[in-house]
Amino acid sequence: MERTELGKLGEFGLIERLKSGIINQNKETIFGIGDDAAVLQFPANEQILISTDTMVEGIHFDLSYTPLKHLGYKAVVTNISDIAAMNGTPTQIIVSIAISNRFSLEAIEELYEGMKIACGEYKVDLVGGDTTSSLKGLIVTITVVGHAKKEEIVYRHTAQNKDIICVTGDLGAAYVGLQVLRQEKEVFLANPEMQPELTEKNYVVERQLKPEARMDIVLDLKDLGIVPTSMIDISDGLASELLHICTKSNLGATIFEDKLPIGSETLNTMASLNLSSTACVLNGGEDYELLFTIKQSDFDKIKNHQDISTIGYMNEKEKGINLISNGGKSVPVEAQGWVHF
Ligand code: ADP
Ligand code: MG
Repeated sequence: MERTELGKLGEFGLIERLKSGIINQNKETIFGIGDDAAVLQFPANEQILISTDTMVEGIHFDLSYTPLKHLGYKAVVTNISDIAAMNGTPTQIIVSIAISNRFSLEAIEELYEGMKIACGEYKVDLVGGDTTSSLKGLIVTITVVGHAKKEEIVYRHTAQNKDIICVTGDLGAAYVGLQVLRQEKEVFLANPEMQPELTEKNYVVERQLKPEARMDIVLDLKDLGIVPTSMIDISDGLASELLHICTKSNLGATIFEDKLPIGSETLNTMASLNLSSTACVLNGGEDYELLFTIKQSDFDKIKNHQDISTIGYMNEKEKGINLISNGGKSVPVEAQGWVHF
């Protein structure tokens, strides 16, 4: 593969290359890359949503099993997921990268290729960024901007007692996918001749390397005439996110083990790795599904939705936050989530 040293291009040459092919698609983007700041304009009756996330090599990703194109895609998607979790529409991102001379122009272009694909997929404009150097590792910071009508914005702190708790899609797959990739890396390090056997585990690996933000659900809820009473995206595992909603809403919750949605491939892979499926769902991360609560009167509107599961209900704070196990036992839900340090 070709390798063009970044030093040959310089910062401005690099920015020129990275911005190639970018065409803004949203009317809210007045001016994108190329001046001291991007210029945006939103409808007068809407509020602006803004969020940022940083991914650090060695902490949030490992380039020995994460293709740069996937990393770029994922970095954009995880930000879009935060806007989805507010029930808003994402429209712009700004990308800041810190890179060392370990990376070639071609490598950084791969990263941007993934980001541009995600931008196309989710109709988001890449309107600016910053380029700086690091000693060794890669750092990617993305800021996303979106918007929503004031009355459509959904917070974490607004769940009500007796509301129904819903989750989208299936859970635990991204965490199991990460375990598969880590295991393959060990095998590969031990014997570089070995080819990874990923075919049967494609679904979980894809969920780890190419997650999606549930903008489709945001649109479905609009079509169904539902504004959730609270919402959060599941980046750190169901337990941690449910605790956030409960703590911020000053309530407790009851969820049922037999209602946790887990895909069949995921269950098979969990079993083959000797992992507890419930522990993976509660404490595994990076599914980027949505956890939300609705009024009981809205239940009929979602009960036939293929991709929404109802897993329990909110209750008084004094009753605590509990999982009713398959055996009928009540187990307190505790946060583990991801510990980075
Ligand atoms: P300044 O020095 O005024 O901050 P820069 O020279 O850093 O401006 O950036 C010039 C333009 O290129 C700006 O529009 C900026 O947002 C954009 N830009 C810089 N780095 C990146 C990047 N890594 N990705 C996308 N756009 C970038
Ligand atoms: Mg700058």
